[in-house]
Amino acid sequence: MTDCLFCKIIAGDIPSDKVYEDDLLYAFKDISPKASVHLLVIPKVHIESLDSLNAEHQQLIGYMMLKLPELAKSQGLDDGFRTIINTGPGGGQEVGHLHSHILGGKNMPGFN
Ligand code: AMP
Ligand code: ZN
Repeated sequence: MTDCLFCKIIAGDIPSDKVYEDDLLYAFKDISPKASVHLLVIPKVHIESLDSLNAEHQQLIGYMMLKLPELAKSQGLDDGFRTIINTGPGGGQEVGHLHSHILGGKNMPGFN
């Protein structure tokens, strides 16, 4: 049994507002949105952060990057969006499962 919040969300043990899922990725709405659109996109495999990546993850991470604009557009963000990946405590990462934020629409935050 994993202690990881996002692994539990992927498994359906904790509810989420899912917007997309395939064999490799899961995307859902952030529970505390910082803009009118605020998604989290995560690999299904547990990877702690960008700092934990190795060459075996290259294809997966490329696939995830290619999926981000597609998911942003699916939420109506046709003229652009912001992506944020926090890494480690120094980067403000609170959940230890690699995730990219997608933000856009009204009330877009600054960087701090
Ligand atoms: P980070 O600070 O980059 O690790 O971001 C973690 C994000 O996860 C925050 O924006 C939280 O609002 C979000 N979050 C925490 N718990 C949940 C949850 N159960 N469902 C959806 N989003 C969550
Ligand atoms: Zn996890």
